[in-house]
Amino acid sequence: MAGILVYSENSKNAHELLTAATIIGSALGLEVRALSINNDTQAEDLAERCGEVYRIKEDSLKLSDTSAMASILDQVVRKLNISVVLLSSNRRGKELAGRVAQILDSGCLTDVYGIEVRDDGNIDCFRNGLGGLTVVSQVIDTEKKVIAIVPKIFEAMGNKITGVIRDVEVDVRSSGVNVVRTKTKVRDAVDIETSDIIVAVGQGLANKDDLPQVEKLAQLLEGEVACTKPVATDRQWLSEERIIGLSGKKCKPNLAILLGISGQVQFTVGIRDAKTIIAVNTDENANVKHISDYMLVADIKDIIPELIEKIS
Ligand SMILES: Cc1cc2nc3c(=O)[nH]c(=O)nc-3n(C[C@H](O)[C@H](O)[C@H](O)COP(=O)(O)OP(=O)(O)OC[C@H]3O[C@@H](n4cnc5c(N)ncnc54)[C@H](O)[C@@H]3O)c2cc1C
Repeated sequence: MAGILVYSENSKNAHELLTAATIIGSALGLEVRALSINNDTQAEDLAERCGEVYRIKEDSLKLSDTSAMASILDQVVRKLNISVVLLSSNRRGKELAGRVAQILDSGCLTDVYGIEVRDDGNIDCFRNGLGGLTVVSQVIDTEKKVIAIVPKIFEAMGNKITGVIRDVEVDVRSSGVNVVRTKTKVRDAVDIETSDIIVAVGQGLANKDDLPQVEKLAQLLEGEVACTKPVATDRQWLSEERIIGLSGKKCKPNLAILLGISGQVQFTVGIRDAKTIIAVNTDENANVKHISDYMLVADIKDIIPELIEKIS
C-alpha cells in the first residue's frame, strides 16, 4: 500500500505533521509512516503516535547537511512506496523539501498552512499569496508530492498507540558539503506566539530611549513586547525573535496593542487573528486601521506614559 511519510527532526513539529498526515491518509487510503534519523528517543516517542516508525542510524549523516538528507529521504520514499512527503516548513524543512522534490522530480509546496483533500483526490494546499494579501489554494499534480507545513497549525497527535519501529538501511552519499561545526543560535528567551497580550512597537517609536517605557507597559499588562521587522533588523533595537509577520511570528493573542505601526500587509498577516487590536498612530489613514478594533489617533509619546499611569 502506498504511504505518506512524515519527517521533522523537531518532535513537536513531527507530532503536528502526523495529524495532517492522518487527515490526508484517511481520505486517500495512504498508510501513515514516520521517519526518525539518529534519534532513538524520538523514534520511541513517534511510535506512541504512529503505527509504523522507520529509524535510520547513521553516525556519518549530519542533519544540517540537507543535500545528504535529501538523498536519504529519496531512498526512503522509494523503498516504502511513499506518494506524499510531509515536512515542517521551518528554515531547514523548506530547504529539504525543495531538494527532495528535485530528486524525486515531484511538485513541492512550502509555507502551507491548511490542507483539504478534494473529492477528486487532489490535496488543496492553502498558502499566503501576494505577501499575505490573499490566500491561494494550490494542488500538486505530480505522482509524488512534497508538502512543507507551517508549525503550530495542526494539533499535535496524542500518544495513544503502540506502533512498531523498523530499522531502514540507507546509503549515505557524500554530498560535497563539509560541516565544519554547528553552533546553537543564541535566542531571546521570549515566545511571543504563546503570549496572551502583546505590545508591539513600530518605527513610530522615534527613540531607542523610549523602549523601556514600552517594556514597562507590557510588563504591567503581563504581556510581551514584539515589533515590526525594521525595528529588529534595521534599527536592531529588539531581537528578531520578536518580529511579527511574514518573516517573523504569527501570533493570536487576546489583546494586541500596536504602537506606531503603519500596518503593512507583511506585518498584519502575523497579528490579524488577535482577538482585540488597539492601534495608536498619528496618521488617521494608516493601514493599521483596517485590522484594528480601536484606533487612537495620537502620538505614542503621549499615550504610553498615560497608559502606564492609568494601569499602575
Ligand atoms: C518580503 C518582505 C517581508 C517582510 N516581512 C515583514 C515582517 O515579517 N514583519 C514586518 O513588520 N514587516 C515586514 N516587512 C516590512 C513591511 O513591508 C513594512 O516595511 C514594515 O512592517 C513597516 O514597519 P513599521 O510599521 O514599523 O514602519 P512604518 O511603515 O514606517 O510605519 C510607522 C508608523 O508609525 C506612525 N508614527 C510615526 N510617528 C508616530 C508617533 N509619534 N506616534 C504614533 N504613530 C507614529 C506613522 O504614521 C506610521 O504609520 C517585509 C517586507 C518585505 C518586502
